[in-house]
Amino acid sequence: MILPRPFARAAASTFALLLSFAAFAGPAAPARAAEEVNVYSYREPGLTDPIFKTFEKETGIKVNVIYAKDGLIERITEEGRNSPADIVLTPESGLLIRAKDAGITQALKSKVLDEAIDAKLRDPEGHWFALTQRARVVYASKERVKQDQITYEELADPKWKGKICVRSGQHTYNIALIASIIAHDGEEKAEAWLTGLRDNLARKPAGGDREGVRDIHAGLCDLAIANTYYMAAMLKNPDQKPWAESVRILFPNAADRGTHVNVSGAALAAHAPNRDNAVKLIEYLVSPEAQGLYAEANGEYPVLATAKTSDLVKSWGELKPDSIPLSEFATLRKKASELVDKVRFDAGPSS
Ligand code: FE
Repeated sequence: MILPRPFARAAASTFALLLSFAAFAGPAAPARAAEEVNVYSYREPGLTDPIFKTFEKETGIKVNVIYAKDGLIERITEEGRNSPADIVLTPESGLLIRAKDAGITQALKSKVLDEAIDAKLRDPEGHWFALTQRARVVYASKERVKQDQITYEELADPKWKGKICVRSGQHTYNIALIASIIAHDGEEKAEAWLTGLRDNLARKPAGGDREGVRDIHAGLCDLAIANTYYMAAMLKNPDQKPWAESVRILFPNAADRGTHVNVSGAALAAHAPNRDNAVKLIEYLVSPEAQGLYAEANGEYPVLATAKTSDLVKSWGELKPDSIPLSEFATLRKKASELVDKVRFDAGPSS
């Protein structure tokens, strides 16, 4: 297959790449010529394709998407002023913060976005916007854990020694959580907490969020730290359904500051050739219609307060989100990562 130049370069790179670019214009043919918008997406196609189709039908604007698990920020940086990217779509706030830091985003002032999205869930300068939310919660064994309340702080209590499973401390989901602990409790307490949590681990941090729940089902641990939407994902998978059914979700700190929340989101690219269409698409993504679809697709919470949360998600209990603005994590993420190394979290419990 002969690919236009920018795609040939992408296809040659090592990351997994799925392309849908029938009308995608390269630098030689200005993308401005057609009614279209170019999305560089880190999110799985299945989550967004149905929404893009509806947008195309309603507006006549063609949505061209490049999907990749990795490397899109680097690619836009390389493409520079000629980048065809209009929108960057990410599954997590760390990438939004990184995109802004890399200088590949631009500020967007939009009344629609400001009204739809809580100020805590967007960049104060308008460089990125949350589109869906999920909580980082504790999955607890139905059989072995009787309490129905928990706090993050309590996870460092020796009563849980050898009972907790979690993925790598350096994973972006855990970095954001640790950053929130630093924000609330200060660096010193956060370090003591992380050390205590490390010593309560049943095994070395490994796998993904779902593997923690798998290991509860297998009897290896009683608690696992994982994002809420994995409950929906496991229930849909016949092999993983028994894992999901062996646990219930506890929303940490529900009785005080609230549960740590992370987001998927979007940013307007710095040199967006189809800026107006890009703004239309981002604004469409916070419409009640798109919000319902988008949140439901991955078992997440909408950011639009009036949009419908799915019955399954509601069945897990009430989410009271932590009130710290996501933008505050930008500076604390680095500290969190340093703490993970300092306490040798990924080496597992000390003997
Ligand atoms: Fe995930």
